Amino acid sequence: MLQRKFDQVVKKYFPNAMDAKDTSIHYLGKMQNDHKIDVSKVLMATSVCSDDINVPSTTFFNVLFGPFIMGGLGGLPFAGQTGMTAFAHHIPDEGSAFIFYGPHIGLTLEGDLGKMYRPRQEETGNSCGALMLALSRLKDDNYKPILNENDYQQMKLEESLLPHRKQILDSDHPQKAITEATYEIIDKKVHEYIKTCKDEFHVEKVALLGGIIINTDYGLDDYFDTRNFEIIDVKNL
Ligand SMILES: [Zn+2]
Repeated sequence: MLQRKFDQVVKKYFPNAMDAKDTSIHYLGKMQNDHKIDVSKVLMATSVCSDDINVPSTTFFNVLFGPFIMGGLGGLPFAGQTGMTAFAHHIPDEGSAFIFYGPHIGLTLEGDLGKMYRPRQEETGNSCGALMLALSRLKDDNYKPILNENDYQQMKLEESLLPHRKQILDSDHPQKAITEATYEIIDKKVHEYIKTCKDEFHVEKVALLGGIIINTDYGLDDYFDTRNFEIIDVKNL
């Protein structure tokens, strides 16, 4: 019942979103059936936010090896080219790679974007905390992130978002807009690292599934709004 109500709220903002279980079944099936990828020999990497709330949505029923964790705050692939290289070297022989990536956003039954009820907490909290913090700072015209080794990921995330500042703040739903902008940043970086590290892969196929994770209430499935599903032939990049 609650899941059905949530379904309506989620689809209002993300009409194409599917719940996390359906997403896993759908894309594992596609890899296996449409692209002849043997899912028993797939190593997964993730580039999603460090937030504990995302762990259950990124298991893919534990049928894949991994995950190799590339992501940090906001979901940016902070492990960089060295991380992509290491991941490429760990793929099973005659296997394939799968990279699941994207930012996340909480949503309450009342339709509040960027918020969620976390396990065993009475009040709503921010989700994604890093992105909502960045949003509050970007609202100040004079704000400039200063790179600092003790808060490197947050500062770097905010720096990457600066070019999108106007579009985010002008939006009717800035919480959604900052999440969309972060998706674009992650998507671009993941593609860039695959390209620069293409010679490190000893397999042909790298499957990508990118989109936005939508966190719902505790006990209910998260949703996933797919923005990109593609199979890259790394030998022909
Ligand atoms: Zn987060």
